[in-house]
Amino acid sequence: MNRKTLHKIPYGLYTITSRKNGKYNGQIANALFQVTSEPPTVAISINKKNLTYEYIKASKVFSASILCDHAPMVFIGTFGFKSGRDIDKFENIKYKLGKTKTPIITENCLGYLEAEVIDDLSVGTHSIFIGKVVDAEIMSEEKVMTYEYYHEIKGGKSPKNAPTYNGSVDEEIKKEVEKMEKYVCKVCGYVYDPEKGDPDNGIALGTKYVDLPDDWVCPVCGAGKVDFEKE
Ligand code: FE
Repeated sequence: MNRKTLHKIPYGLYTITSRKNGKYNGQIANALFQVTSEPPTVAISINKKNLTYEYIKASKVFSASILCDHAPMVFIGTFGFKSGRDIDKFENIKYKLGKTKTPIITENCLGYLEAEVIDDLSVGTHSIFIGKVVDAEIMSEEKVMTYEYYHEIKGGKSPKNAPTYNGSVDEEIKKEVEKMEKYVCKVCGYVYDPEKGDPDNGIALGTKYVDLPDDWVCPVCGAGKVDFEKE
């Protein structure tokens, strides 16, 4: 079996949020799809270890905001690689309360839907929640962030917002850059690739790991340079 085949399945990227006892939490998820059209129903797959799972299980409501392609890594990092058990993810995030009283994230997202859980199915490590959509709105006409875009572009192979990375980069510099070593964040698995730099945080393409400023932190989880090791 070639498990890499599974990586070829296309997805979007979403923030899934819920509530419990007056508290809010949310996470990033890629597994969301529409199940039926009448009534509009969606399904999401959530890891049982996640706090969001506990909240959805308890309140039986969730909302999903659809990420747009300019959502910064630090935003994705807050929702995707940190736990609501350690931080308040909504501290510096723009949101509003929806019909289901779940927090709907209104920044870096182009639309949202709210759902009431009508069923759930336990599948090993995850649970699939089926939700009847009770409200939905489009907030902007931006482009959606696909899972592929997140890996290929935001991970930065050719970040469109890196002005240094274009057709004029000469081949020799390119080869030099390719020789440079990658470093992996031991906390979240983010890979610092000198070929890509960290354009969200002003690190130009071609910056070696050793040349990163001492106060540079993992753009995804906020871990320091010491938490990185050679890939
Ligand atoms: Fe990290």
